Amino acid sequence: MPDPTMHDAILVLNAGSSSIKFSLFAVRGGELELDCRGQIEGIYTSPRFAARDAAGATLSEKAWGEGARLGHDGALAHLLEFLRGELADYRLAGVGHRVVHGGLVYTQPVRVDAGVLATLGKFVPLAPLHQPHNLAPIRALLERAPDLAQVATFDTSFHRTNPAIAQRFAIPAELHDAGVQRYGFHGLSYEYIASVLPQFDARAAAGRTVVLHLGNGASMCALAAGRSVASTMGFTALEGLMMGTRSGAIDPGVLLWLMDERGMDARAIERLLYHQSGLLGVSGISSDMRALLASGEPRAKLAVDLYVYRIRREMGSLAAALGGLDAIVFTAGIGENSAEIRARVMAEAAWLGVRANGRANARGGPRISAAKSRVAAWTIPTNEELMIARHTRRVLGV
Ligand code: AMP
Repeated sequence: MPDPTMHDAILVLNAGSSSIKFSLFAVRGGELELDCRGQIEGIYTSPRFAARDAAGATLSEKAWGEGARLGHDGALAHLLEFLRGELADYRLAGVGHRVVHGGLVYTQPVRVDAGVLATLGKFVPLAPLHQPHNLAPIRALLERAPDLAQVATFDTSFHRTNPAIAQRFAIPAELHDAGVQRYGFHGLSYEYIASVLPQFDARAAAGRTVVLHLGNGASMCALAAGRSVASTMGFTALEGLMMGTRSGAIDPGVLLWLMDERGMDARAIERLLYHQSGLLGVSGISSDMRALLASGEPRAKLAVDLYVYRIRREMGSLAAALGGLDAIVFTAGIGENSAEIRARVMAEAAWLGVRANGRANARGGPRISAAKSRVAAWTIPTNEELMIARHTRRVLGV
């Protein structure tokens, strides 16, 4: 008999190439309540674990030192050991995972079994730098705890509502049919923003809104009545805006030139476009916006100028896809924290009807547009983990 005094809990895992982030949510009174969160970083170089409660107080910390290689399995084992104590008061109802690619198959979150995991494995070539790491803890948990319910949630799913024309590249049909299409990413972040937008701005929620997810990875999404109709990312998370270390949109002719003139192969081009470009590549200083804004170097200024210019261009493109604009929303690391970048982006969007409220922007909003602004501007913190927990709860019916 299950103990009726115990609450259900949902564990959310977000596994990347060098880290596993986790959040534990309790299901209380029908609501999801954060119990604790944290991460293990540097799992192949110098692993560090930290867990904090919902108020941000440290619950546990550990560092393994330089050169220690925990790997994904070792990191997961440490995390489960920590959670054994945390979970004493809960019944673990299931684990929700962030998975970057659902391909054309998964337009919704899905409960994972061995068959689903095999299908998700087929999308590794579509997101080689993320998908294998996302799947690693799913596979490990299927082996360690086969009865534990697991749900995969996808960064692509939210964009499956894009009209067919927005998902199409101008290439032969055979390649389109083989899956070479525009998918779009950061969908869990956009879905969360769409879900809370009615609390901030009923007109934006029912109308035409561009959301700017400006983090280390960066993209923008056009929402029509809360549904994604276009986004700046495409076949991979490389497309669109300039990012911390990723180039964003680049003339495909450049790739041909790199192969012909520089003798670069796919792996070398991958390193260049994913890890050595963007803010880091242009500035030669850092991929961190804070460092560039604080720097007096002309190359840092150029990198920030290009970052803002690319946003200006994409804003016009998404407003065109929407046929007008009612609101813009800033979110993620840079979007939530950098009043300077927000101010510059709003100034560049004046032609679309955006008027900033400088003081509100400096304070961090949430409303950062002037009362007379035709287009409302907001800064709203994203919460991808909560979105994953909500999906997991719904799929598992807890
Ligand atoms: P995320 O991937 O959403 O965690 O965002 C990480 C990025 O946010 C970092 O690379 C920083 O450049 C940026 N960031 C965080 N805080 C600030 C800030 N106060 N000003 C400018 N950029 C910031």
